[in-house]
Amino acid sequence: RIKSVRDLSGVGQAVLNKLTEAGYSTLESIAVASPQDLSTAAGIPLTTAQRIIKEARDALDIRFKTALEIEQERASVKKITTGSQALDGLLGGGIETRTMTELFGEFGSGKTQICHQVSVNVQLPPEKGGLSGKALYIDTEGTFRTERIKAMASALGLEPKDVLQNIMSIRAINTDHQIAIVEELQDIIAKDNTIKLVVVDSITSHFRAEYSGRENLAVRQQKLNRHLHQLVRLAEIYDLAVIVTNQVMARPDMFYGDPTVAVGGHTLYHVPGIRVQIKKSRGNRRIARMVDAPHLPEGEVVFSITNTGIRD
Ligand code: ADP
Ligand code: MG
Repeated sequence: RIKSVRDLSGVGQAVLNKLTEAGYSTLESIAVASPQDLSTAAGIPLTTAQRIIKEARDALDIRFKTALEIEQERASVKKITTGSQALDGLLGGGIETRTMTELFGEFGSGKTQICHQVSVNVQLPPEKGGLSGKALYIDTEGTFRTERIKAMASALGLEPKDVLQNIMSIRAINTDHQIAIVEELQDIIAKDNTIKLVVVDSITSHFRAEYSGRENLAVRQQKLNRHLHQLVRLAEIYDLAVIVTNQVMARPDMFYGDPTVAVGGHTLYHVPGIRVQIKKSRGNRRIARMVDAPHLPEGEVVFSITNTGIRD
């Protein structure tokens, strides 16, 4: 099965390097390339270029489909409860598989708490809102806490030790490390089809720190975009849920529109998925706002962060 550029027939290390250098590092970029451009860029015969474009399109299932086929594909999407019926309702039933869900909001808004809760809930059986699956948790800020996992597990009547066993967490040290981890996920997930959730908390913090300043913006967006697309692909290929968090800063200088701006800039808006803004309200209350989902109405709901986790 073709899952990345290196799986295309006739793409050895030398051709792979040329393709990558020319910017054709993903199946998507090859699928939409012109055979002439690809042939020139990678120094491969036109017929080879045509063949790998066809292979990439087939692998991505890029073709006209009937609306009925599309409906059947959508019907296979599964949902993981967040612990709050209101939040689940906003999400159209819960965190979806085959989709990337972006949680953005200010520091302390509850993004990390939701990531912890869904990492626990994914382990529940389907009749209780889970997928009987495991979670992979990429922690870039060092905020993953087993205490929170145990408290959330106990509250659901789950054995805390079992729940801890089913969450694999890794601390990403910098952007290159974070990117490398996601590139390796493919192999890990291919070997373990019980992994049903991938969390990246946060997707943007290292990028922001390492590529600060206007002059670095273009490179940052390009790298981040590719990283996000890899995550989206994982979600689609392996029918799993991906949650990424994105801290936003208050922009007091902005008078119109929303006074908070997602740190990833507009990049995340070019990536398909669901975007939910989390805002602080009174005490442990939080407001979740559906910002941009292709099939869900915009709206706001209130939920709470409690000692036992996310609740109504
Ligand atoms: P973010 O990731 O958006 O910066 P967090 O998910 O870390 O924010 O949320 C932090 C908030 O979660 C804290 O301000 C607190 O209100 C709440 N919280 C964290 N731990 C607990 C707990 N054990 N009991 C109740 N609320 C908690
Ligand atoms: Mg956090």
